[in-house]
Amino acid sequence: MEPVLEFINVCFSYHSPDGETPALSGISLSVLPGEFIAVVGPSGCGKTTLLSLISGLLRPESGQIRLFGKPCGSSGTNIGYMLQKDHLFEWRTVYDNVLLGPQIRHSLNQETETQVSAMLDTYGLSAFKDSPPSALSGGMRQRAALIRTLALEPDLLLLDEPFSALDYQTRLEVGDDIGGILRKEGKTAVLVTHDLAEAITLADRVIILSHRPARIKKILSLHFGEEFDTPLKRRSAPCFSEYFDKIWKELKSNG
Ligand code: ADP
Repeated sequence: MEPVLEFINVCFSYHSPDGETPALSGISLSVLPGEFIAVVGPSGCGKTTLLSLISGLLRPESGQIRLFGKPCGSSGTNIGYMLQKDHLFEWRTVYDNVLLGPQIRHSLNQETETQVSAMLDTYGLSAFKDSPPSALSGGMRQRAALIRTLALEPDLLLLDEPFSALDYQTRLEVGDDIGGILRKEGKTAVLVTHDLAEAITLADRVIILSHRPARIKKILSLHFGEEFDTPLKRRSAPCFSEYFDKIWKELKSNG
């Protein structure tokens, strides 16, 4: 199976008048279609830099990034984003917000409208179609933001701390929700988070980064039994705390 995303020995440093800030060092990894990858590491280690490189906002200093086997930038890969802020526009209805991407791209057609309406229905938002975003709860807003992203049919989703602005209970619910939606839609996703539990409950593999300049300390594959098929159920799985301990120890180790 061809990877959606490959990092081959990627290094990156920021340059400013004050000097050089090495951010990533020798990163190699690949992400397969439908995989959900979580990236964890100490604050300021280079996690967001990794996403900026995938999205093409930054270019590697050395090494290569490939999307569907082609160099990043010339691959034509459709990348979707989900960020901490949902950036829903209050002056547009929920429906007009989720259709914003196709409208801007001039690709809005009957098929997209049908798909988006079906997603609003499946994910419990159709009653709020004509409401402004302020009528939605925090969790519903994140769901609407995700549908807006999915309306553009991304080949790869980048999630940068998407739940960290939510209160704890909403965060659990929304994590469960969004994780479920992404699995159902079979999306390939890279999640950056400082929340280890979130990484363990959502991902197939967790990439553990070192302090800056980030290098990969360990890649942990997660295996839960079939009965633990949602993020909330994973929290109660016996191996949840084992995985938590492993990642925690790895982050604390100096190696
Ligand atoms: P993380 O997402 O893991 O918190 P970042 O990828 O945002 O870390 O940043 C990695 C390092 O690069 C940090 O030390 C940060 O201060 C530095 N950095 C980020 N952006 C810039 C920039 N535009 N110019 C200089 N240094 C930067």
